[in-house]
Amino acid sequence: MRFRSVFRASLANIKTSRSRCFRRSFSRLQPQSDRPSFGIAFDIDGVILRGRTPVGGSPQALRRLYRDDGTLKIPFLFLTNGGGVPESKRASELSQLLGIEISPQQVVQGHSPFKEVVNRYENELIVAVGKGEPAAVMSEYGFKKVLSIDEYASYFKDIDPLSQYKTWRIKQTYDENSSMELHPRYDVYSDRVKAAFVVSDPVDWGRDIQVLCDILRYGGLPGRDKGHQPPIYFASDDLEYQAVFPAERLGMGAFRIALEGIFNSVSSSPLEYTSFGKPNPFVFKNAEVILTQLVSDIYHIQDNMDGGTGHEFSTLYMIGDNPKVDTNGAMKAGHPWFSMLTRTGVFRGKDNDSQFPADLARLLLSKDALAENLAPIRRVVVRLRTGHETISTL
Ligand SMILES: [Mg+2]
Repeated sequence: MRFRSVFRASLANIKTSRSRCFRRSFSRLQPQSDRPSFGIAFDIDGVILRGRTPVGGSPQALRRLYRDDGTLKIPFLFLTNGGGVPESKRASELSQLLGIEISPQQVVQGHSPFKEVVNRYENELIVAVGKGEPAAVMSEYGFKKVLSIDEYASYFKDIDPLSQYKTWRIKQTYDENSSMELHPRYDVYSDRVKAAFVVSDPVDWGRDIQVLCDILRYGGLPGRDKGHQPPIYFASDDLEYQAVFPAERLGMGAFRIALEGIFNSVSSSPLEYTSFGKPNPFVFKNAEVILTQLVSDIYHIQDNMDGGTGHEFSTLYMIGDNPKVDTNGAMKAGHPWFSMLTRTGVFRGKDNDSQFPADLARLLLSKDALAENLAPIRRVVVRLRTGHETISTL
């Protein structure tokens, strides 16, 4: 897996741009002495939800993170490799499903880091791939010339030689016979695609691999002369994830392997790509910045001269179901991250994962999930961290 450190300098920007947005429902004056020394990052799929169904008592457990008046008591966010819709929309969906008020700033999706390269591609033609609303996601981040791969492919007649056989397609967003082919929004026949972004799990792998190979082999202009490969970014690299079906489903990492294998077979040079999402330590650093900002908004902490709040967490809990991404990511990120592994999703082992052992495993049982297991969390954490303010305040 190749990571390029292109996003490294952008954490300060994240903090600045988000700080205004945090001052919402968290903003009733709270005593400084109550400032929590810990924060929590929850994975979503296989921990909080399976599909659209809450896992066990996860809504009740999350409600304990709020005060009686509905303001946030414990800083927490959702740290998921999933995505496909803007953070604002996902926050609204989660609020509805879980019965609590979630702010868009508490939703960090696999594609959230893409907003950090807006300056590089703001006015360039880019293609967004994946389920949901990938182009809307990128537009909301500030990219001005973005086309979904559905729309982009629709402008190139016969680019997908199998499209006529895809009778399973119930909705053809961009009809082949429509006038769009003659009047694309951008001049896709001479304007090179400067970058491709895999925002969420691709739907039509065959068509998408074909079109991406065309874009990447031909320097951003399918069917023209071969050219330098434009950058391609993946929101995550999960090989598998837990959805509603009893067995794991192939994720974006599987798509990346398929694309890479095929591209490397048809191209003279290997695929260059950048993957984000957990376990990339950048994601955890970003989450820490957001959690710190949450604390400062709850407790009205003024920024220092250097732009920091001076607040430091002694522990940040990553609660996830996938050792490869959740536990591994927390391990890579190091202090103050502390990994907790659930048995409600991908991980089904008896004790702990052998390759990526969590700091604490077997906490959250699939039977009754989070709410009923907060007591064990408290006991264990208190035992580990005697004398400190911990999750025991739950
Ligand atoms: Mg998961």
